[in-house]
Amino acid sequence: MQIRCGECKKALSLADEVVMNQMNCLTHKECYLHAPSFVIDAGTYKYMIEKYWFFQLQNH
Ligand SMILES: [Zn+2]
Repeated sequence: MQIRCGECKKALSLADEVVMNQMNCLTHKECYLHAPSFVIDAGTYKYMIEKYWFFQLQNH
């Protein structure tokens, strides 16, 4: 299972800096083009997986 960036569709790597929006969708920090107020968390992809266990259950 591999989660992909919501914008560029490339598979996320553990060290990638990503942001999560209100839809629990991850995009690369540099790919994110929407309002900053929609971002609910930011950090590396590894951090997101460990903090938000539900990403491990999703199958994108
Ligand atoms: Zn991207």
